[in-house]
Amino acid sequence: MRLKKVSKPKTYDVLVVGAGVFGAWTAFQLARRGQSVLLLDAYGPGNSRASSGGESRIIRMGYGADELYTRWAMRSLVQWKELFAETMGLPVLFHETGVLWLGSKDYARLNEMTAVLTRCKVPFESLSGSAIARRYPQFDSQDLSSGILETDSGVLMGRRAVSEVTDSALSLGAEYRQAQVTPPGATDSRNSRLASISTNNGEKISAGQFVFACGAWLGTIFPEILGPRIFPSRQEVFFFGVPPGDSQFSARSLPTWLIQSDEVYGMPDLESRGFKIAFDSHGERVDPDTQSRVVSAASVEHVREYVAKRFPALANAPIVETRVCQYENTSNGDFLIDRHPEMNNVWFAGGGSGHGFKHGPAIGEYVAQQILDGGPAEMRFALASKATEQKRAVY
Ligand SMILES: Cc1cc2nc3c(=O)[nH]c(=O)nc-3n(C[C@H](O)[C@H](O)[C@H](O)COP(=O)(O)OP(=O)(O)OC[C@H]3O[C@@H](n4cnc5c(N)ncnc54)[C@H](O)[C@@H]3O)c2cc1C
Repeated sequence: MRLKKVSKPKTYDVLVVGAGVFGAWTAFQLARRGQSVLLLDAYGPGNSRASSGGESRIIRMGYGADELYTRWAMRSLVQWKELFAETMGLPVLFHETGVLWLGSKDYARLNEMTAVLTRCKVPFESLSGSAIARRYPQFDSQDLSSGILETDSGVLMGRRAVSEVTDSALSLGAEYRQAQVTPPGATDSRNSRLASISTNNGEKISAGQFVFACGAWLGTIFPEILGPRIFPSRQEVFFFGVPPGDSQFSARSLPTWLIQSDEVYGMPDLESRGFKIAFDSHGERVDPDTQSRVVSAASVEHVREYVAKRFPALANAPIVETRVCQYENTSNGDFLIDRHPEMNNVWFAGGGSGHGFKHGPAIGEYVAQQILDGGPAEMRFALASKATEQKRAVY
């Protein structure tokens, strides 16, 4: 009798759990460096429960005095554009709307930002209160006496961009499977290395390195270590229908904007989805699997009140779309990109904290470097720097 040859299951160089923007770019950068990569996601790349599942995400260079993130955003924008140009012929998933920061003249952050943007050679214009009122009559801008317009920044089309990055990783040889990974158990963490993970489809998958890029789920996958260090918060987003035939809210007339003193930001009417507006203040703590994706009546009232005051022409505009998502905050807003403290081939990549999307390319590059080259680690991303109480410092 001839014995049937049983092929040995494949051992991947790297298994990446989570196909949000962090995981997709990590898979892409690793595949580009010749690694055999498997990317897994419970619900799909850029799915509607994920933080990366929104329609649109701002890519801005301004981070106040925080030059680290300015430089990462600059490097990332180049790579986003390159990827879209390579795969789609044009950077169609990036809208160069410009990004307008608004505040009062004595708002320190704008002055700090001016210094960093100048040093980093980011193109921008400084605007006085009268210039803001003249150029952007859409705003009631009486209290806004100072502005910075990042002319080359704009908006990435979120979930579609994640899908594009995933496809690009696959074209470089990475594989993708839809499955939920079972959290590694206590026995696994007693060993210094993880050999394999199990999925809810009953599969056991082996790899040399494991990257958990699981956004707001990181705390449930590693409850002891990350449960108290990742703070998922509910965030609600609104799209207002612009008046018929009115182009003052189109990207030709209105840039993407942020008013940090009001903890609010918004975008022009992109792809005819409506004028987007959202509050950046952290909502209640939520579970990404079970939180309601329906906006609350109180938030509708709050946003209507704000819009009527700040954008009088939209006072009676209908809300044409809403989204409910979550930030996956660390204690201060710095990312978490580090090794598991016990299993030295297990990595965390998360803590995007409401500002991580734009940085996807640089994050993937950094994770790949850490795994393959063991380069110098950024201490701000270290697990050891993550506190168990929130004190937001990065915006
Ligand atoms: C409303 C809102 C507005 C934002 N605006 C901006 C912005 O303008 N600019 C900006 O730069 N950033 C912004 N952000 C932040 C940015 O979107 C996030 O930081 C970023 O998307 C986080 O990506 P991620 O890959 O870490 O997480 P996610 O996108 O949440 O991805 C995690 C993935 O892991 C998967 N997963 C979880 N557990 C498992 C498991 N056990 N097995 C398999 N798969 C699993 C999930 O299905 C999910 O797809 C915003 C966020 C929100 C919510």
